[in-house]
Amino acid sequence: MAETNGAPTQPDVDVVVVGAGFAGLYMLHKLRGLGFTATVLETADDVGGTWYWNRYPGARCDIPTTDYTFGFDPDLESAWTWSEKYAAQPEILRYLQFVAERYDLRRDIRFSTKVTEATWDETARLWRIGTDPGPGLTARYYVMATGCLSVPKDLDIPGADRFRGDVYFTSRWPHEGVDFTGKRVGVVGTGSSGIQSIPLIAEQAAELTVFQRTPNFSIPAHNGPPPQQSLEEIATDREGYRDRAKWSRIGVPREPATETAAQLTPEERKARFDAAVAEGTLGGILALWADMGTNPEANDMVRDLMHDRIRSIVRDPETAESLCPKDHYFGTKRPCLDTGYYETFNKPHVTLVDLRKQPITTVTETGIETAEASYEFDAIVYATGFDAMTGAIVGVDITGVGGQTLKDKWADGPHTYLGLQSTGFPNLFLITGPESPSVLSNMAVSIEQHVEWVADCLRDMREAGFTTIEPTQTAEDGWGLHNGDCAAITLHPTANSWYMGANVPGKPRVFLAYIGGVDAYRAVCDEVREKGYLGFRLN
Ligand code: FAD
Repeated sequence: MAETNGAPTQPDVDVVVVGAGFAGLYMLHKLRGLGFTATVLETADDVGGTWYWNRYPGARCDIPTTDYTFGFDPDLESAWTWSEKYAAQPEILRYLQFVAERYDLRRDIRFSTKVTEATWDETARLWRIGTDPGPGLTARYYVMATGCLSVPKDLDIPGADRFRGDVYFTSRWPHEGVDFTGKRVGVVGTGSSGIQSIPLIAEQAAELTVFQRTPNFSIPAHNGPPPQQSLEEIATDREGYRDRAKWSRIGVPREPATETAAQLTPEERKARFDAAVAEGTLGGILALWADMGTNPEANDMVRDLMHDRIRSIVRDPETAESLCPKDHYFGTKRPCLDTGYYETFNKPHVTLVDLRKQPITTVTETGIETAEASYEFDAIVYATGFDAMTGAIVGVDITGVGGQTLKDKWADGPHTYLGLQSTGFPNLFLITGPESPSVLSNMAVSIEQHVEWVADCLRDMREAGFTTIEPTQTAEDGWGLHNGDCAAITLHPTANSWYMGANVPGKPRVFLAYIGGVDAYRAVCDEVREKGYLGFRLN
């Protein structure tokens, strides 16, 4: 590294990117295209991110592959064909490997390398990145493409380390797979990963016991070939289709519902519900009527229809009641798409344990004890979720201007401008960071938007001769208020969801994503850039 007279110190590379999932791969490709030098650092030994780690049985996307795919290069789109409406994990991983090969990305990725710390050097105006294993490196810009759902939540179950049988985490599934044939298996957790894996584990296991703290809403995925209508629209007007996704509410082309629940008759509401269940998409079921996310009575109408559906499938009335979510409004936790989930509880060897009625007291050497019973297992599967949105970011010791750490700054919840940057941490960018639409959207679309915004920003800075960028305190405070206001007019803050940080003990209770819509958010980001990076301080 050479010190030049008056000019900023030259770093090892222009940009360090952390993470080699969808976001890190596209970021690297984009930066290279603009002539920046970049190195990607990744804990895993290959690309894929979410789709590298989550190899549990039944792991699939829940946004149709026609939409959950890169749209930045028409040639890439024509070179790849998805086999299913909702591709399974191996196919999505193959796709990301294909992307890495197509653009020759691996040569700038340092695998099996965890970023442990990052410190802003105010004098040299660069980031000093510490890695395990070392050596670290320096970069002018530091992009965290570390994922919103990449840090598994710590187990908060007493005695968890006592169990002597096999233990699996859905988020860190063995690469060689697991055969549960003839085994007594306990699954803890009924979020999306639990709901996807339970029917398949039940097919193999001799006995399956599911421990449920919170039931979740789920509708059938009706997986099969990719949706014909989307394929035709893409074939005739690819750009128009991708544009409609960019300017939609959740990053999937779809007209929003305009009628409120009260404007529809009960028969019309039921018909809409049945049609959405038959379609099997989150976009459909989340847009039955306009006020389902804001009006408790309108939401209750969806909940009632959901409960009726569960009761009509699950034969044991007590199990059916336990599976009916009553503690949160529909949509305030991400609903799930399943293949035979509720039907699984009709199998004689499958038992549901409702932890609201009989909490786990301890894990033992041989199984799990609840307040009422003792269960013996050969294997326990934990599908217990993630420290979402902020876990991977504060998992790195990041120190900014004046020795302030990001962890301290975010002790009461994340503070960002547009979810892209945080004041006091110049040149640090977050891809799909907290207070951006991220997990409330089709993340392929949100990732592309952020990557392109950051790349444009770095090019604009280079052309104008700027070296550093960070938000003003006023802009950050304003965005925080707007973010909170948008959430406050919805039912979301009423739920104990991971969107609210409520699944992690001690995590501040704030709504972590921007709920104003992918379209509105994109318009703001575009305007900020058009107005010369309004709200940012450039030097
Ligand atoms: P990730 O894919 O999470 O990649 C981040 C990478 O950063 C990881 O490989 C991680 O190892 C690495 N990393 C993190 N910290 C460090 C560090 N300190 N040092 C080095 N490396 C680090 N979204 C959708 O829109 N549609 C879906 O259908 C969908 N399905 C999902 C299913 C599952 C099971 C899960 C868990 C998530 C799903 N998501 C879905 C969200 C999904 O995470 C995103 O769609 C997308 O894959 C995120 O890409 P990313 O590159 O931002 O992050």
